[in-house]
Amino acid sequence: METIEEKKKKLLVEKDRQNVWHHVSPYKKENPAMVVTEAKGSWITDHSGNKLLDAMSGLWCVNVGYGREELALAAYEQMKQMAYAPMVQSHVAAIELAEKINEMLDDDYMIFYSNSGSDANEVAFKVTRQYHQQNGDPSRYKFISRYRAYHGSSMGALSATGQALRKYKYEPLSSGFLHVAPPDNYRRPSGQSVEEYNLLRAEELENKIIWEQKETIAGIIMEPLITGGGVLIPHPVYVKKVQEICKRHGVLLIIDEVICGFGRTGKMFGHMHYDIKPDIITMAKGLTSAYLPLSVTAVRKDIYETFKDSEENSHFRHVNTFGGNPAACAVALKNIEILEQENLVSRAAVLGERLQKELAELKSHPYVGDIRSLGFVMGIELVEDKNTKEPAAAQRVGKIIGECKANGLIIGKNGDTVAGYNNILTLCPPLSSTDEDLDFIITVLKKVFKQNQP
Ligand code: PMP
Repeated sequence: METIEEKKKKLLVEKDRQNVWHHVSPYKKENPAMVVTEAKGSWITDHSGNKLLDAMSGLWCVNVGYGREELALAAYEQMKQMAYAPMVQSHVAAIELAEKINEMLDDDYMIFYSNSGSDANEVAFKVTRQYHQQNGDPSRYKFISRYRAYHGSSMGALSATGQALRKYKYEPLSSGFLHVAPPDNYRRPSGQSVEEYNLLRAEELENKIIWEQKETIAGIIMEPLITGGGVLIPHPVYVKKVQEICKRHGVLLIIDEVICGFGRTGKMFGHMHYDIKPDIITMAKGLTSAYLPLSVTAVRKDIYETFKDSEENSHFRHVNTFGGNPAACAVALKNIEILEQENLVSRAAVLGERLQKELAELKSHPYVGDIRSLGFVMGIELVEDKNTKEPAAAQRVGKIIGECKANGLIIGKNGDTVAGYNNILTLCPPLSSTDEDLDFIITVLKKVFKQNQP
């Protein structure tokens, strides 16, 4: 006999099926969406009372973990005091947050607020194009990004994205977005050192600029490491070289810190691993740990100078209703305070190192081609054959992910969707994860890999 509780749960799932259009994943009758009802620390609870460790922090975003009352209170207090002011005006939380971000970045940027990572990247593109126009370089309009990178879902950000499967049904996208291959160190040609290979990839990027006529190139956008395309971590020489190339050809360097920002890689911002100074930096997700939507486009002050006190036709004509929402800014300030007070940035480095060390034994597993991480973000690349590096079949990857979930662990999958495979397991747990949480992740992964042998 079904209990009333069980009936209620079934009804909820049915109402979800009837009314809610889920992101990305298609609805499957045998596999309805999980309805999350509670979350605390690194753990989420579904409507059946199952507890799962969320080793993806939602969508790579809940950096300080779930259930932080301080963040709820920060939003509450701000809403009570003053719920809304458009950013054509200003307000205290926006001013304080901009100052704080500048302190973290070394005080050289103007902070433009939006709502999402996609929005922040759109702003970066528009600022870049207008900057070149106002700086006597009106022919510069093209952007170069990398295949496999994800930069967002809106038309410009999707145009910059280098994942064909996400794009082809929505063509024609924005014009002027070009792509080059990123360094994929695991799959580099034999006989090349990682450093040589990374320098060659940077050279390819420079050639693209030259072949496309450098006077037409406005900017390059890249993440400090490609996260969503399968955790591809460049050698530092690559990033440094890209900055040099940008400077040489008058191209702006836009660094997308939407995932890497706010401690994920073991430094406050991912680009801080590489001794570079980006022209524009975009941030979202970890800025509020996703408690409220907020994003930032930080623009170097000398670029902003061409917009400042300008003639009417030099204004930056971009506005959005919710950008810089006061409660979201208050939550971001509190979120950064938590990151600092609990030393979660250095904690990310410690947790990541332990994860690498403890999972090292999996490298000899027949299906594990590569394990790579920077801070507390990891990719485990699965292959059918270690010699040929043939990507693991979708069914095998799905089985491993399913078994992790059945054991209470949520992990992600990514890969080279252009080539049509999705063979890289991803982990991006909250930076506030406890040692016991990490033990759990390691135990489940080892158990599941042990169960999956040829
Ligand atoms: N840039 C990167 C690197 C991302 O991972 C994402 C989202 N996954 C975005 C931009 C877009 O962010 P949003 O979903 O908030 O628009």
